[in-house]
Amino acid sequence: MDFGLSEDQKALQEAARRFSREVLLPGYKAREADGRLDRGLMRQMGELGLIVPSLDEAHGGLGVDGVTAGLIVEEICYGDTNVGYLQVLGALAGTILGRHGHPDLAREWLPKIAGGERLVALGLTEPRGGTDAAHLQLRARRDGDAFVLDGEKASISMAAQADAVILFARTGEDSAGARGVSAFLVDLDAPGVTRAAYDDIGTRVVGRGSIWFDGVRVPASRMLGGEGSGFTQVMQGFDYSRVLIGLQVLAPAQASLDETWPYTAERHAFDRPIAQYQGVTFPLAEFETQIAAARLLCYRTLWLRDQGLPHTAEAAMCKWWCPKLAVDTIHQCLLTFGHIGYTRDLPHQQRLRDVMGLEIGDGTAQVSKLIVARERVGRIAVQYAKR
Ligand SMILES: Cc1cc2nc3c(=O)[nH]c(=O)nc-3n(C[C@H](O)[C@H](O)[C@H](O)COP(=O)(O)OP(=O)(O)OC[C@H]3O[C@@H](n4cnc5c(N)ncnc54)[C@H](O)[C@@H]3O)c2cc1C
Repeated sequence: MDFGLSEDQKALQEAARRFSREVLLPGYKAREADGRLDRGLMRQMGELGLIVPSLDEAHGGLGVDGVTAGLIVEEICYGDTNVGYLQVLGALAGTILGRHGHPDLAREWLPKIAGGERLVALGLTEPRGGTDAAHLQLRARRDGDAFVLDGEKASISMAAQADAVILFARTGEDSAGARGVSAFLVDLDAPGVTRAAYDDIGTRVVGRGSIWFDGVRVPASRMLGGEGSGFTQVMQGFDYSRVLIGLQVLAPAQASLDETWPYTAERHAFDRPIAQYQGVTFPLAEFETQIAAARLLCYRTLWLRDQGLPHTAEAAMCKWWCPKLAVDTIHQCLLTFGHIGYTRDLPHQQRLRDVMGLEIGDGTAQVSKLIVARERVGRIAVQYAKR
């Protein structure tokens, strides 16, 4: 077992760390008010190869493995966890478009995504629910050499600012469930598309929202993979994105811990530093321990992926544990700062609001635990009555 990093990994980690600490961290608070990601910042990150480093060089990436991509996500999200959405969505688009899109489509889009010139959202959730995604209802009806889309997608990260969406739509019968779902790459400036952002409590720069499709025509060549294979594709992509999300939320929790320790040494109560009270330091020590363990789980899962080994259960473990742990850690840091922790002057409240969204986004803790159970005991863990 080797926990060391190669010289190349250290160099990339250092480049990401510098960008994150010097460019992202100072603007974290201000970006919340902007309500959207600055395209110049995206291009800057793209030029450094920090958005989708795992893509091969022909598609605009750095050709690195999953572990190295994880190191970069962690560094970037230390400065601004919301910028990690670019990386997670980029990784999902890279997996789905790269594996299932027509090679011409992948050649056209992936370098633009990796370069920070295009933003591609992922459209799965609908107003009726996101957990039971296999029964989605947005319809794609064949009409000559195109499909016509009608329906609404809800809760889509970057809905208000994305250039395109990888959209999951029903091409088969309702009764076909997951087997009737196909994926398409849809331009969001197409006639018939409208969108609106939600008034979220956190992650405001991401602009989560709804997208409506009213008779939107999409060429059949924009279908990703075979008809009826869309659901399987997104589920394979989730095995990657769920681990990256783990690192995306552990990083700001670590940032809060790193800021809280020195405060415990400086702040005095009853004539001594509060660091001398074990009631103050033991909770922080416990969170340091759990974050170290959760980080190892993430990197081991990425390593399994890099080896081509099964990692669905491990990815689901990352997805339920890391956001909860990040929320609990940041909350403890906020409390350690006392009354000043409750102000907007300190970043803990913003981090707390931001990471909380990822307790839900990309699948809740319940569905993640169902996946772990299914991987251990089989489909009996997730079998429901037929509709
Ligand atoms: C910050 C954020 C970003 C997001 N980004 C995207 C995105 O980019 N693209 C996208 O498509 N979606 C996105 N989502 C939507 C997200 O994936 C869904 O919200 C999520 O899958 C849950 O769906 P739901 O909100 O409709 O809850 P529901 O499915 O209605 O579930 C409600 C509650 O019931 C629980 N529940 C449901 N079924 C079961 C069960 N069988 N057993 C136990 N508990 C159950 C759920 O865990 C949940 O707590 C995002 C959400 C958030 C908050």
